[in-house]
Amino acid sequence: MSETPISPHELAANESAANESSSSGDTYEIAIVGGGPAGLVATRYCLHAHLSTALVAPELGGKVGYPFVIRGMEPVDSVWGAQVVHECETAVARSPELKHIREQAAHLAHLPDGRFQVHLAGGSSIRARAVIVATGASAQRLYVAGEKEYWGRGVSFSAVSHAHFFKDRAVAVVGGSQRTLVATLELADIARHVYLILARPQAMQELPAAPLLRRQRNVTPFVGWEVQQIYGDDFVSGIGLVGSNGETRQLAVDGVFIQFGLLPNNELVRDLLELDEEGHIPIDHRCQTRIPGLFAAGDVTNIQSEQVLVAVGEGAKAALSAWQYLVTQH
Ligand SMILES: Cc1cc2nc3c(=O)[nH]c(=O)nc-3n(C[C@H](O)[C@H](O)[C@H](O)COP(=O)(O)OP(=O)(O)OC[C@H]3O[C@@H](n4cnc5c(N)ncnc54)[C@H](O)[C@@H]3O)c2cc1C
Repeated sequence: MSETPISPHELAANESAANESSSSGDTYEIAIVGGGPAGLVATRYCLHAHLSTALVAPELGGKVGYPFVIRGMEPVDSVWGAQVVHECETAVARSPELKHIREQAAHLAHLPDGRFQVHLAGGSSIRARAVIVATGASAQRLYVAGEKEYWGRGVSFSAVSHAHFFKDRAVAVVGGSQRTLVATLELADIARHVYLILARPQAMQELPAAPLLRRQRNVTPFVGWEVQQIYGDDFVSGIGLVGSNGETRQLAVDGVFIQFGLLPNNELVRDLLELDEEGHIPIDHRCQTRIPGLFAAGDVTNIQSEQVLVAVGEGAKAALSAWQYLVTQH
């Protein structure tokens, strides 16, 4: 990746960071922010490399437990890669070499000497020659009755994770982006019938996947309709809709996929990096951002496949790239 010159805005931010730095604490070779799959695996690799490592993470584990069940199916919590993450969690928690800072990182500054300063929520800060941001992403909720109650019992936020359970069943997909339509196409190949609920009518004109959807015989779009509630008994059995003209409908479904996408936890780097249109940190194939020494891994980046195993691999890759960076910088 080519190095882009630092802008006057960044220089000003750097100078103010340098002024603040009189209150800085310890210096590490590498700081990792976030204790989910990507951050834990990155930390383990950095410890293997005997780098002086700080992990800034209020808790360890991230998002790896998703018990899921639908009618007529045994409950499963078969997240591929969860075992690796738990193993890393134990190893990291026991490591005497690691500085585990059980705090939220509040801000990241790039200092004029090329190092980084991680400001912690409690008011102190640390410095590091390299940083891996692995802060993950949060699911965007629908905030309707039944959503929370049936989460994991028919309600899913991840078509890639749960679509395969819905073979020959009826499902609803709710959202409004290209990702919503792609999830609908993925489900249409597996499920018996897919109801697509799009509140924003323009979506069917603007989004590139829309023409493909119109050709799917087992997809019924409800354009200009909103979900009012998700209902059922022990499991989801249907959704209630309201149209733009006030008309209401009920659809019998076994599953509801809430596909608004994930919101990247990007607060730390918003004034350091240009993010993509969905707020992800752009990285290259080595998990390197535009700023030398600043790496990122997992759901917060633009890798696009939010899965535990992908985050595990990206965390390993970020750590190996950071190690290489550190040994080649003097
Ligand atoms: C509802 C849902 C269901 C899913 N189901 C599956 C599934 O079945 N199978 C599968 O493989 N994947 C599934 N995924 C995706 C999977 O959970 C993620 O891809 C994976 O956890 C990403 O790992 P990560 O380390 O990038 O982020 P996370 O797991 O999100 O970990 C990031 C960590 O960083 C912390 N953090 C955030 N900001 C800061 C900060 N400023 N300072 C310090 N710490 C911070 C967070 O609190 C969190 O602990 C699902 C995701 C969702 C939302």
